[in-house]
Amino acid sequence: MTTPRAATLIEGVTLVTMDRQLRVLHGDLLIREGRIAALGPGAGAGLTEEVRRLDARGLVCIPGLVQTHIHLCQSLFRNLADDLVLEDWLRQRIWPYEGALCHQTLGVSADYGLAELVRGGTTTILDMGTVHHTDAIGEAVTRAGIRAFLGKAMMDEGDEIPASLRETHAGSVAESLALAKRWHGAADGRIRYAMCPRFAFSCSEGLLREVGEIMKDRPEFLMHTHANETTWESAESRRRWNNNYIGHLHDLGLTGERAVLAHGVHLEESERHILKETDTCITHCPSSNLKLGSGIANIPLLWSWGIRVGLGADGAPCNNNLDAFVEMRLAALLQKPLHGPTAMPAQRVLQLATRDGAEVLGLGEEIGSLEVGKAADLVLLDLNQPHHGVDGPVAEALGGDVYARIVYSAHASDVRYVFASGEPLVEAGALVRQDPAELQARGREALQTVAGRLFGR
Ligand SMILES: [Zn+2]
Repeated sequence: MTTPRAATLIEGVTLVTMDRQLRVLHGDLLIREGRIAALGPGAGAGLTEEVRRLDARGLVCIPGLVQTHIHLCQSLFRNLADDLVLEDWLRQRIWPYEGALCHQTLGVSADYGLAELVRGGTTTILDMGTVHHTDAIGEAVTRAGIRAFLGKAMMDEGDEIPASLRETHAGSVAESLALAKRWHGAADGRIRYAMCPRFAFSCSEGLLREVGEIMKDRPEFLMHTHANETTWESAESRRRWNNNYIGHLHDLGLTGERAVLAHGVHLEESERHILKETDTCITHCPSSNLKLGSGIANIPLLWSWGIRVGLGADGAPCNNNLDAFVEMRLAALLQKPLHGPTAMPAQRVLQLATRDGAEVLGLGEEIGSLEVGKAADLVLLDLNQPHHGVDGPVAEALGGDVYARIVYSAHASDVRYVFASGEPLVEAGALVRQDPAELQARGREALQTVAGRLFGR
């Protein structure tokens, strides 16, 4: 249980609410019992209770950022698997590395990823997990204080899956359901469960079909998988199943409003029809798609069809950051040579990383905007550095745009404070719950353990 704490009043801040009216307010924000109790001009007036006051004059408050595709298990392997095509990247590097993780080293990997995510203002994630030791991810998310859908990656069939990751159909389902029992609703409800068949080529049809059946009974879960990342997948899908990839998932019961598919880079028109008709969501991972040479997902087209989209950094070794600011900037810039400079405007991109992400996860009532009654998941940015340009009334009169400053100019290092459920996770630019130096020491030790298991070093 969270210990009751005094209310917090954030004073004198610019509030970029990302609510339906896209209001930008100047005033205060009151956090009481983990929720936004009041916001705007005069929100802190007349308080008689004990409050912790935070002078936020000159800072900009945005909703906590939401990333709908992450692999915390891969954070230890950042910069150890570069400049490879996806299939080699997975089979030669990432799967053997993941297979060599134990409970303890997976926990360190998750701590690494979470430290970067929290420091950069991400307060909610959807994590794909790895096959074994998933409790370590739940424990790390609990320590970190953020909100997450998490699950174990399911892999019971497929070419070149190492023995260390290959599981049986029955074992995969049993372990997933046992994990869901332990973790769905854990950490005061901040953790929820996602069924995570890794991708269609790593799972038997029987397993995928059973996941579809489980989702009918347990609509509170999400179903998270990779889809349509490379042209190889599209061609292989036709060859094996005489169907396109989304059509194959649909036939197996893996589409729907609780399905979140990472990537969606190469989609045929008939696949877009299925996504639209079933309200299936896509997670856009622009850095990962570029680094692995996969292509550019046509997000403006998906939006024009009314298909819901979230944003995610994917795994640390295919990015190599977990930085929502990098992803926002890139998501905007990528589309402009293809669709013109008015495509993906800054305000819409900030919405992608906040309210849209929340809605993809089914958490639109809980997070994603600064509104009274929602969870106090929020980020305070210092946008007063030279790289943000000139602020003040003249800049505003000339059309200065706070969204442009956030999406095009801000860095993760501009984050000064982060709150999740009203708990401070970053204060004055420093992590509250993690010590980066201590984390580095644990990381070196963990990598040595993994290397010892893999190479006998
Ligand atoms: Zn991924």
